[in-house]
Amino acid sequence: QSVFVPKEGAGEPRVAASPDTVKRLTALGFDVVIEQGAGLGSRIPDEDFAAAGARIGKAADAAKADIVLKLRRPTASEIAGYRRGAVVFAIMDPYGHEAALEAMAKAGIVAFAMELMPRITRAQSMDVLSSQANLAGYRAVIDAAAEYDRALPMMMTAAGTVPAAKVFVMGAGVAGLQAIATARRLGAVVTATDVRAAAGEQVASLGAKFIMTDALKDASGEGGYARELTEEEKRAQAELVADHIAKQDIVITTALIPGRPAPRLVTAEMVKSMRPGSVIVDLAVERGGNVEGAVAGEIVTTSNGVKIIGHVNVPGRVAASASALYARNLFAFLETMVDKEKKELSIDFEDELVKATLLTRDGKVVHPNFARAAA
Ligand code: NAD
Repeated sequence: QSVFVPKEGAGEPRVAASPDTVKRLTALGFDVVIEQGAGLGSRIPDEDFAAAGARIGKAADAAKADIVLKLRRPTASEIAGYRRGAVVFAIMDPYGHEAALEAMAKAGIVAFAMELMPRITRAQSMDVLSSQANLAGYRAVIDAAAEYDRALPMMMTAAGTVPAAKVFVMGAGVAGLQAIATARRLGAVVTATDVRAAAGEQVASLGAKFIMTDALKDASGEGGYARELTEEEKRAQAELVADHIAKQDIVITTALIPGRPAPRLVTAEMVKSMRPGSVIVDLAVERGGNVEGAVAGEIVTTSNGVKIIGHVNVPGRVAASASALYARNLFAFLETMVDKEKKELSIDFEDELVKATLLTRDGKVVHPNFARAAA
């Protein structure tokens, strides 16, 4: 059977295979075809894919593929190029895109949404949300440091002392924890907040101070994620945060709630309270934004000289690392579906991981979260 890995569209430098996973796929008995130039955004030349055992092909080769490995949900024209029954893996971004799911179903595609992978031990190696969020958290600090006009670490020199920068991380999930660790490595004084009480211990273990108010009850929701706060809780959080933010040099926000717009954590007033030259990075900007005034794809400078960074596709800003990890996540999932004797895909539709991630099959949207909306 054949595996095709296309070059992704504009704005997506990542690629869904690496020379390492090409070797592994080939060892499982697959013929791997990589579209010419697919790895260039991640610094993987075609020759490296070829040396790993892939054939370098064209976009039209998708028509012969049994399996397609992608980063982004296929576009209408990509879908038109796949054969019926093709199995496609990608970050499908299904919420609010029911029509696109319907189009994949109609085309007879077996589509898997990697971001719906359950956060259970067995699936840890397939967790694309974690592998990509981890890099985004790292990169957020690097981007903030690059826009900040002062040094992050304390510097005691003959010419005097430069104080350490104060970094505040809001949302201490995978991205937030890596942001804390990165800011600490750069010598900043780091504080963090989250609405899940369990995050407190993790923050402390990274050497940062956890900021929390008693008025804010633990807002852990389903599956270890946060739930939306009540109006009263939101007020308590804003009160707690307002004074603290005014004293910070760098704020990194990462707060998300599954299936909902990102919570608004930083108001325009709070931004105004910060000193000129302060920097805010809103990692949730593509999901509605945690910060008032953040603009997706832009660095906004406010009238009081605060920079609000709204880069999109932050994992793509560390593309070579992000691709390597994403490719391994895909391979780990695909490997569980391979019949190693017959050397072909044999999907167990009763498997927990398959049930959680399968969007479309046999001409229908089958995922329980989307099937009804599409009907
Ligand atoms: P996420 O990306 O959904 O959200 C980021 C963070 O924002 C979360 O910590 C969340 O609690 C926080 N948040 C939400 N609303 C907020 C608000 N109003 N104010 C402040 N913070 C707010 O989360 P994630 O990084 O995907 O992690 C979610 C959970 O899953 C965590 O408990 C994490 O440890 C866990 N996890 C488990 C595994 C596993 O395999 N077992 C893997 C990865 C993550």
